[in-house]
Amino acid sequence: MQLSSYEDLRSRLLSHSITCEEVIRFYLERIDHHREDNIYITVFHDAALERAKALDRKLQEGGTPGRLFGMPMAIKDNIAIKGGRLTCASKILENYESVYDATVVQRLAEEDAVFLGKTNMDEFAMGSSNENSAFGNVPNPFDKNRVPGGSSGGSAAAVAAGLAMVALGSDTGGSVRQPAGFCDIVGLKPTYGRISRFGLVAFASSFDQIGVLARNCDDASLVLGVMAGKDGRDATSSLHDVPDYGSEMANVSVEGLRIGVPKSFFPETLNADVACIVKGKLQELRDRGAELVDITLPESDYAIAAYYILVTAEASSNLARFDGARYGYRSKHSEDLSAMYVNSRTEGFGREVKRRIMLGTYVLSAGYYDTYYKKAQQVRRVFQDRYREALEKVDVIAGPTSPYPPFGIGDKTGDPLEMYLADVFTVPASIVGMPAISVPVGLDSLNLPVGMHLICNFFEEGKLLGIARLMQRSL
Ligand code: GLN
Repeated sequence: MQLSSYEDLRSRLLSHSITCEEVIRFYLERIDHHREDNIYITVFHDAALERAKALDRKLQEGGTPGRLFGMPMAIKDNIAIKGGRLTCASKILENYESVYDATVVQRLAEEDAVFLGKTNMDEFAMGSSNENSAFGNVPNPFDKNRVPGGSSGGSAAAVAAGLAMVALGSDTGGSVRQPAGFCDIVGLKPTYGRISRFGLVAFASSFDQIGVLARNCDDASLVLGVMAGKDGRDATSSLHDVPDYGSEMANVSVEGLRIGVPKSFFPETLNADVACIVKGKLQELRDRGAELVDITLPESDYAIAAYYILVTAEASSNLARFDGARYGYRSKHSEDLSAMYVNSRTEGFGREVKRRIMLGTYVLSAGYYDTYYKKAQQVRRVFQDRYREALEKVDVIAGPTSPYPPFGIGDKTGDPLEMYLADVFTVPASIVGMPAISVPVGLDSLNLPVGMHLICNFFEEGKLLGIARLMQRSL
């Protein structure tokens, strides 16, 4: 089954040249066939088929098809689907079942999307390679010895390998954009507050944002339009009107587009192929009528330093709820209550999660709060001011998504700091809360994907998607 976009699938479904059941069976068979790739943690075989049959009946009976009628979707396993397993790829939630739907899940379901299953990820969304999963690695569909990126590695691999048409991920510092870049697909992180976080398991609440992974910008914009908007159950969700993203995208033209190119996004150490492909694409846009503007932004290294202080602080507090008493795994070897807490957390959390809880607790402790946490908050403010200023002069800020193409499985697991630097270009947009996207722009000399990273001003998702669409290489 060759499907170029959701629009293509939709017209075939509505003209009865194919049924939802056939489509969903096709995807489920592909998922089973690729079982050893570990892309899904849970597959909803029965529920997805039931749902597909119900949608077919709805159409036969003359019901109005929803905006995402029959769209086969994968959901990252830190987003709640009622009655489904919700593991966060952690042993501590291995057998936990969600008792409610996330707001996004509810909104997608109301528009007739079909959920195929829950995708693999780094434990509690902490990582850049999907290697921190209690459920094992996911190979990159382009080269099985390499990582798919992370933390939404399963979601990115699912879309790239044709095991879902669109997938949801979560992005705290790059977890939608970086894996999208590594898997040659589109990955959008909307403005902080654009999409409700109700039902997304919290990692760092002032950064977390649900994002979309898709093969093209049109599919991503459709799904964004359904999910975006105020939600009474998330006080940080924005009241800002949800525009028609399709028409906003259509209004973007390359003629006169001002593209800000910061020197700090093209350091000496940047992989040569990545630099060449990204710069080549920017030249191409200039030839088509865009203007490239040199801009200066604060060094991204400072963003990484501030990010890992702020997110670990927030994580140490958010993850306190996993204590063996209320949720999930409880250690069986404890003599008293406090040993039960300690043992449950010691046995239930993986290494990286424990490292971050300790780091976060440390930077929040009385003696160090001002030195680390407060300082990092000040750095965050400086980044916000500088990015706002830059976007008064240009329409969009551009650079590579990652400093290098997908790296080998095991290459960076021995050195957490090395791993943290994988996000050097994606973290700044998370610090400032602006929308950002990774879009496929080329393949390197080893045929590995290279992504372009674009940042627009707050709530300019339509424009961002439109610009990304101008740049996407034909797949
Ligand atoms: N890789 C980054 C981290 O480990 C980003 C994770 C994310 O965006 N969830 O924190």
